[in-house]
Amino acid sequence: MPTRHHRFSRRGLLKWIAGAAAIGTLPFLYYRYRLQVFPLGPPAVIPRSEWGAEEPDPALQNEGGHEVFNTVVVHHSAMLLSEGPRAIQYVHMHRRDFLDIGYHFVIDGQGRIYEGRSLAVHGAHVKGHNAGTLGIALMGNYEESEPIPEQLARLKWLIRDLMTKHPLTHLAGHSDFLPGKTLCPGKNLEPLLPALASELGLKFGTDGYIGPEPAPAALVTAVR
Ligand SMILES: [Zn+2]
Repeated sequence: MPTRHHRFSRRGLLKWIAGAAAIGTLPFLYYRYRLQVFPLGPPAVIPRSEWGAEEPDPALQNEGGHEVFNTVVVHHSAMLLSEGPRAIQYVHMHRRDFLDIGYHFVIDGQGRIYEGRSLAVHGAHVKGHNAGTLGIALMGNYEESEPIPEQLARLKWLIRDLMTKHPLTHLAGHSDFLPGKTLCPGKNLEPLLPALASELGLKFGTDGYIGPEPAPAALVTAVR
């Protein structure tokens, strides 16, 4: 009897393990299913007021000029994936003396898009090349890890949306403007950009840059 009892228990245990394993796959199945039913969901840009942005330095104002963006520049935040727009804005404003968060948009690991710096002014994201370049940063460090499919999908959506509002012709990575001076957007993200540009009908690279940077006096300190 003890032996049978023991065998029964073991079978019970095996059943329990199989059941637990099946339950363990449920989140994965749900995830797959959800992606198939709602490929991206309705993307939207989360406004600054919702993510608790700090007010920009008053020196950062629209000088009345109309910023014309023709090149999208892709970045990684080079921070933790969990460090969002508030952390990025804090570093930019309080450690690097920017007048506001440097990027125009930030995208997190789930593909949520956060409004960054006003599109009425230059970003502060590509030293010496901020005129006419629209900066989008993917949260995370893609020198170290692999870009996340949801992030890339929403990046594509965002650029498509921006193409309807701005005369964008080119897409480049940060390091394409400053080769040898920055690793951004990282060795795992940069190689994906030519195909992304081509899918979007944009030219890859920096040839569209319209500089030199005609920064108004009040914006000089914002241009890094
Ligand atoms: Zn960058």
